[in-house]
Amino acid sequence: MTAFGTQFGQTMALSHWRDGVFATPELTPVAPLPIHPAAHVLHYASTCFEGMKAHKGTDGQVRIFRGARHVERMQQSATQLRLPAPPTELLHGMIRDVVRANKAEVPDAPGSLYLRPLLFGTQAHIGAAASPPNEGMLLVLPSPVGDYFAGGLRPLKLLVETETPRTTPHFGMVKSGANYVQALPITLDAKAKYGVDQILFAPGGDVQETGAANFLLIDDDRIVTRNLDTTFLHGVTRDSLLRIAEDLGYVIEERALSTDEVLGWRGEAALSGTAAVLAPVGILVHEGKEVTINGGEVGKNVERLRDALLAVQRGEAEDRHGWTEVV
Ligand code: PLP
Repeated sequence: MTAFGTQFGQTMALSHWRDGVFATPELTPVAPLPIHPAAHVLHYASTCFEGMKAHKGTDGQVRIFRGARHVERMQQSATQLRLPAPPTELLHGMIRDVVRANKAEVPDAPGSLYLRPLLFGTQAHIGAAASPPNEGMLLVLPSPVGDYFAGGLRPLKLLVETETPRTTPHFGMVKSGANYVQALPITLDAKAKYGVDQILFAPGGDVQETGAANFLLIDDDRIVTRNLDTTFLHGVTRDSLLRIAEDLGYVIEERALSTDEVLGWRGEAALSGTAAVLAPVGILVHEGKEVTINGGEVGKNVERLRDALLAVQRGEAEDRHGWTEVV
């Protein structure tokens, strides 16, 4: 399969909005959109998005995973950007419609149909740097994806960055393109200089998240991860893994996490996210030195939790929390 996010389904859902009112969504071919060169989003980044998946189970059924939670997070992002928050039923309905329309293109496991809800402002007004756009679009774009870790789980190497934050402290929980482009130069520099896969952002020693995933410490008894606040993205995978781990008897500690604690951790570490599910961390680079985590191996607790989550997503295990929706 081609690189994650470069292949698309045939049909997307689209709703135009104006003065806060969303028009009835339509299903339309995935194709370029006409956009005015003065469109607000192109100049002032008035946009937010979501990333979620629908999975095909061994029973042949297609299930959307945690649609309601993703809709809620999109609404929070929109509000924070002073864009109109899409009504719950409208956006959730668009997600369902797109999955139904692209059902034939949902890959078998370990692949899935990645869904990208996207909201942006199109008002042609380059003088509006300090005001929100009054019109724009909401769409849901489907993308069949393969296994993020084709060829097996590989422990990742992360640079622990204690000076530069990923984004501004009040904006980390917003899923907006501006956050990603801010993190790009430092991430590219770290990849070139240290050969790392990602940066673990820990401004002032406060361990938060990487550029595209949350960070968890795991051992045989507990999961430790940063408590939620506005500084980082509230991952749906993070939340799901914590609930599953709790069901399996692990103790959950959501609290501040220092670089010292992370560097001295004697268990496993992993990144959680929609794309990677739960990916093991093998090496941390800090102040020029490399620290090995769990002997640089994939840990048994990471594998156990990852498998448990995938089993729920694919309808192979009981969905105790009502997270999946067959469409
Ligand atoms: N943190 C960032 C910055 C992300 O981009 C993501 C995304 O996918 C996550 C965390 C994990 O979030 P989720 O589990 O909802 O995919």
